[in-house]
Amino acid sequence: MKMLINGEWRDSVSGKMFAVHNPATGDVVGEAPLGGEDDVRSAVQAAGEAFGDWSAKSPRDRAKVLFFAAAEVRRRNTDLAALLTAEQGKPIREAVDEINGFANILEYYHALSAGERGEFMNLRGYGRTTVLRRPLGICGAIVPWNMPAIIMAWKIGPALTAGNTVILKPARTAPLTCIKLVEILGEAGLPPGVLNIVTGPGETVGREIARNPDVRKVSFTGEVGTGRQVALDAAPALKRLTLELGGSDPMIVCDDADIPIAVEGVIRGRFYNCGQVCTAVKRLYVYESIADEFIRRLTARVEAIEVGNGMDRGVTMGPLNNAAGLERVVGQVDAARDGNEGEIVTGGQAPLGEAYERGLFFLPTLITGVPHDSVLFAEEVFGPVLPIATVKGLDEALDLANNSRYGLGASVWTHSADVIARATEELQAGIVWVNQHLKIPPEVPFGGTKASGIGRENGSRALEEYMEEKAVLIRL
Ligand code: NAD
Repeated sequence: MKMLINGEWRDSVSGKMFAVHNPATGDVVGEAPLGGEDDVRSAVQAAGEAFGDWSAKSPRDRAKVLFFAAAEVRRRNTDLAALLTAEQGKPIREAVDEINGFANILEYYHALSAGERGEFMNLRGYGRTTVLRRPLGICGAIVPWNMPAIIMAWKIGPALTAGNTVILKPARTAPLTCIKLVEILGEAGLPPGVLNIVTGPGETVGREIARNPDVRKVSFTGEVGTGRQVALDAAPALKRLTLELGGSDPMIVCDDADIPIAVEGVIRGRFYNCGQVCTAVKRLYVYESIADEFIRRLTARVEAIEVGNGMDRGVTMGPLNNAAGLERVVGQVDAARDGNEGEIVTGGQAPLGEAYERGLFFLPTLITGVPHDSVLFAEEVFGPVLPIATVKGLDEALDLANNSRYGLGASVWTHSADVIARATEELQAGIVWVNQHLKIPPEVPFGGTKASGIGRENGSRALEEYMEEKAVLIRL
């Protein structure tokens, strides 16, 4: 595959390519150009030239292209989902959902475009005032590998609808689906230069996007450390930033919770996408009065998860996406094991057998009795491993839940109105669920507090994140 710059499919300036591997088999799925700083500069130039005409169109005309693209994406879901599973590893059903999610998000921005009219105020003594909203210019969209299609849509949807032009940088281990989606957006009518995609390493392509003074905003999703580097690189040009960073979401299961439903909540919340979701359940706090029953049922359910190649029928959890991620999860589990931090009740290792030898597999893992200062609670565990601790009641649960540098999502499982009122008020998070975890519809603002990030994506005000306001006071 190639990169799209100024409407042309190109190789990189270096002429080099990098291979993308299937994490279930190790086979090569495809290749993408190894872009560098010069490729980003060409894309910035193209995006700058395209900005005038694109920003002059009405929001509705711009969003129409997204709407047409969404229809085509839905039509080609089967092929796109297969490509996503091949490069990312997730079960095909999850890939189908993600591709549909991409289309949902573009359609949402199409709907939102109709309401984009600026503001009018009639202020006594100051005259008639209008607030014009203008696009920012060239925006950078830096995307991780865990949910590449959804996160791409969260960024390009509002950026393009608001009238900006974009340089998109996918992650090295999952760029191919993003390239295909860019191709479909081009076919749907995006003019040359409006959306450019540059593939390659974060240290060159990503950093040039963050540094380049002509890029007026960077929307980045990835790890906390990388986000901090992006902020430092973007600081000299004082550009706008949206940083969607890591999470270590707590899930609190109270003594009145519906246990079977909460068990299913963990299965989806922790093991969806092999645990590689920013808002996955990463710490479980269960009331001690129900802990034995809860853990017994949960263990049985976890042991029924079918691990394997995401393309195979019946598989409900695929491999991890990349070797570095697997190594990190293994290191975290080993550190807990070596430090006697809790008991591994199931999993804790790679599955055995020929079918797993070439892939990046790890069994779904539950660890009970984990001390509160364990690495498993302190660090983000980006894989299928769940540390569990028991709590006496809500005070202790909320204290522990909030005792984290992260603040992305959190959930509480109860039917008590008092508990819901307190937990939703006190949990330090950008999103709080009650009796569910993980779902993020495009209508709700999404983002983190504390080290989990700055700014919000989605929601009715998402376009404003990609616009600048200009107040005009008219006295006649
Ligand atoms: P990562 O930080 O390694 O990489 C993310 C992207 O940034 C990739 O495209 C990468 O190539 C690029 N990059 C790397 N170094 C860069 C640099 N110096 N400058 C600019 N770009 C650079 O993250 P990852 O491993 O791909 O993703 C997993 C992380 O993302 C987890 O921590 C997860 O919690 C987080 N995440 C957060 C959200 C959210 O919305 N808050 C959503 C999904 C994932």
